Amino acid sequence: MTFDDALTKALIERVAQAVISHTEELTALDQAIGDGDHGINMKRGFEAVLAEAETLAAKPLPEALKAAGMQLVMKVGGASGPLYGTLFLSLGKALPEAPGLADAEQALGAAIAAVMARGKSRPGQKTMLDVLAPVHQALAAGGEDLLTRLPEAADAAAQATVPMQAEKGRASFLGERSVGHMDPGARSSALMVRAVCQAIGECR
Ligand code: ADP
Ligand code: MG
Repeated sequence: MTFDDALTKALIERVAQAVISHTEELTALDQAIGDGDHGINMKRGFEAVLAEAETLAAKPLPEALKAAGMQLVMKVGGASGPLYGTLFLSLGKALPEAPGLADAEQALGAAIAAVMARGKSRPGQKTMLDVLAPVHQALAAGGEDLLTRLPEAADAAAQATVPMQAEKGRASFLGERSVGHMDPGARSSALMVRAVCQAIGECR
């Protein structure tokens, strides 16, 4: 598989469309345990990315990811903007122009470490990391049908945030009352993982 313009464009479009089309769901999740802005924050950021899809797709994948990361830092806001911005920027720094599976695994590991450093957080605290880290583990474990299994792992991991008590971000202010709701950032991460796999599946 080559990471040509068409794949970069599909990745940008699928991820942006997935986030934008779930704005209401992300809003509802953040209304339950936060301030209700996660849907609109993410929509604003990914609309900016989508508006530049053609320009981004003309760049090599690492440059496209870095540019998208900058847009997210500038446009998303909230706690999630700098964190998703860091994720995309770090992926852009770590990935070669035509990554294989081993590159993807290594880059996602580096990007998760960067998000943890930026958020002073770790998996187990009811955040986006509770989807990103298990997806990274599933990627590292490898095997057949990764394009099917990674989205399933992401959805299961997002679901697994429901019984958790938040220890980071606004939801942590609720203490025990954060239990019983899916973390909004975990959900948006799972949406992105599914969209990435969909785009790769379409282009290979
Ligand atoms: P805000 O909390 O500022 O309103 P958003 O609503 O856009 O920002 O994003 C909330 C999401 O950000 C949470 O659901 C969680 O997944 C993620 N998040 C918040 N703080 C952290 C952190 N320190 N580390 C990792 N993820 C975090
Ligand atoms: Mg919020």
